[in-house]
Amino acid sequence: MSGRILIVDTVPTHRIVLKVKLLAAHYRVEAVGTIDEARAQLVKAQTDLLIVDLAEPFDDTLGFCRSLRQNADTANLPILATGAPPEQSCRIAALTAGIDDFIDRPLNDAVLTARIRSLLRGRNAASELRLREDTHRALGFAEAAPEFERLMQVAVVSHDLVGGQRIVDALGASRLARAVALDPDTLLSGKTPANQADLFIIDAGGPELARARAARITRLVAELRSRGDSRLAAQLVLVPRGADDLAAAALDTGADAVAAAGAGGEEIVLRAGQLLARKAQNDRLRDTISSGLDAALTDPLTGLFNRRYARPHLARMRARAEQTGVGFSVLMIDIDHFKLVNDRYGHAAGDTVLCEVAQRLRENFRAVDLVARIGGEEFLVALPDAGLEQALRAAERLRRVVGATACGADGDQVPVWVTVSVGVATSTSDEEPDHVIARADAALYDAKLNGRNRVTHAA
Ligand code: GH3
Ligand code: MG
Ligand code: MG
Repeated sequence: MSGRILIVDTVPTHRIVLKVKLLAAHYRVEAVGTIDEARAQLVKAQTDLLIVDLAEPFDDTLGFCRSLRQNADTANLPILATGAPPEQSCRIAALTAGIDDFIDRPLNDAVLTARIRSLLRGRNAASELRLREDTHRALGFAEAAPEFERLMQVAVVSHDLVGGQRIVDALGASRLARAVALDPDTLLSGKTPANQADLFIIDAGGPELARARAARITRLVAELRSRGDSRLAAQLVLVPRGADDLAAAALDTGADAVAAAGAGGEEIVLRAGQLLARKAQNDRLRDTISSGLDAALTDPLTGLFNRRYARPHLARMRARAEQTGVGFSVLMIDIDHFKLVNDRYGHAAGDTVLCEVAQRLRENFRAVDLVARIGGEEFLVALPDAGLEQALRAAERLRRVVGATACGADGDQVPVWVTVSVGVATSTSDEEPDHVIARADAALYDAKLNGRNRVTHAA
């Protein structure tokens, strides 16, 4: 996964060791020794994650983190701290200053990369939602509804109901959320309103128990992440110190954060507060987007975005590409000999084919990709942060998926086989979206000339 990481650590060997680990994991990495250098670097280049060392100078570093949180450009930048002093009071101060997560030395590679992946995943989802919200605003749709105060719900999942209740009490006293404690089996039965919690705090238990239950805990995390009603909830897993494999596995299967099982109520309340704030923000963005998705922006036949939506969204992708230095790719897709489908099977069968091709498009691309119907049997897909090679692979996969099975086969209509031709172009730095589209269109024209049912890329 790509992502640009900035390391701030006064100790040169720490910087070097961490940088080497992260480069090996294919991140782009900058490392600096002072807060002033870090500030300069943040202005100079788009940064996706910050790793700060808290050992020295503790107070200045926390002041730096606080200032980042107050600045609109960096308010949502994930911050991971190394070298946090073991005292509970220091960790509380760090969380209050805006640190998202800690990782203790010596750094365990699996835990380190799992934490980074989890933080970047959260950041990508949030920034994608923000990108879409910007497009809606540019198109004149309503601003986000003013945040209304809804009391959020927390489910504390623990085999130890007394321990679970202690966390519930701490959350209740903080007035942060309404919390309930329950055991994993009750939760998994699905017959409890706790399924709709905004945050799950999952307690893996003491060191011995945690080891025995590791597989069950990661399964629970994955299960909650995949169920319709809990898919968007935040998850905090409490893991005993030293259970690094469990921590890494939990983060990789979908947990947003892990904390030490022995963490006091105050720390858990702070972590819960952070996760709930992020969840509320994402809910709000998602609501604005779905309420703005009216007929003006979507195609009534397929439900895909239309041309009106695609243009400003591409303009935003281009602006982001300029910031990140990673371009976007455009696929122009046209169904081959579609007129023949209408002529031979009728217009209704043609419509079914359009809907099924649209469905395969939706399934074949990532949530962050833009999929639009821009003409009768013409579609446009835009892939942010994707180079030519990745775009060609996605296009080829789509071409095969469309040609592999007939459309309308499971209805009472005659099955209809169709193929698509695809033109691919990748933006060069600061290239206008219209120009990228024109190049993809020219490539599509070549694909048609060269016999159809093929992917061609622009010069
Ligand atoms: P090529 O391989 O060169 O792309 O050939 P083609 O037949 O697909 O291309 P052409 O542009 O000649 O025909 C496109 C056809 O798509 C013509 C039009 O009737 C049909 N069409 C456009 N919109 C719709 C629609 O919403 N529903 C149906 N059923 N047909 C449509
Ligand atoms: Mg056409
Ligand atoms: Mg066609």
